[in-house]
Amino acid sequence: MSNNSVFPGDKIASIEEYEAGHNTFDDGDMVRSATMGEKDMDKETRMINVNHPKLLSIPKVGDVIIGTVAAVMSSMIAVTIDYINGKPTTSKVECICGTRNMRIRNVALVNDVASLKIVAHLNGTIHAVMNEPELGIIFTKCRKCGGKVVTMRDAIKCTDCSWIDERKLSSSFGKSDFIHLRE
Ligand SMILES: [Zn+2]
Repeated sequence: MSNNSVFPGDKIASIEEYEAGHNTFDDGDMVRSATMGEKDMDKETRMINVNHPKLLSIPKVGDVIIGTVAAVMSSMIAVTIDYINGKPTTSKVECICGTRNMRIRNVALVNDVASLKIVAHLNGTIHAVMNEPELGIIFTKCRKCGGKVVTMRDAIKCTDCSWIDERKLSSSFGKSDFIHLRE
């Protein structure tokens, strides 16, 4: 680990100084890392990228993963796994999580960060669930404007445009220390 190591959610620089590049996002104030890796701050283009290290692993049944939502379909979401039991992985393995029985308007959006539990390997597909309080979405944005959202009981509300929406939120949502799992 070097001084350039960053974890998802880590603040890297102010958006007035730098723009969010690969594997980063801006929260309206700061450029933050969207993943675990090494930050690369380009002083000329004023762009920050985060590069993944090379690690490979496949989660086992019972493991808790943190990943990035890659696709949202009518009855499931696909999540690219970034952490297994708090340990970073860069193998880009995907798991799927059924959402059919959740009575939630938008369980997750693409690029949300989700915490899931692995329940099965079936036909080469890794299946996960988010039906426990600590499982679910730990980072999301406003579907309308991309703004920052805050929780309102079971719903979320955009601090910019006031759009109210739903997600299957983790009990860790909104806690800046959600990456405590990295230990
Ligand atoms: Zn909004």
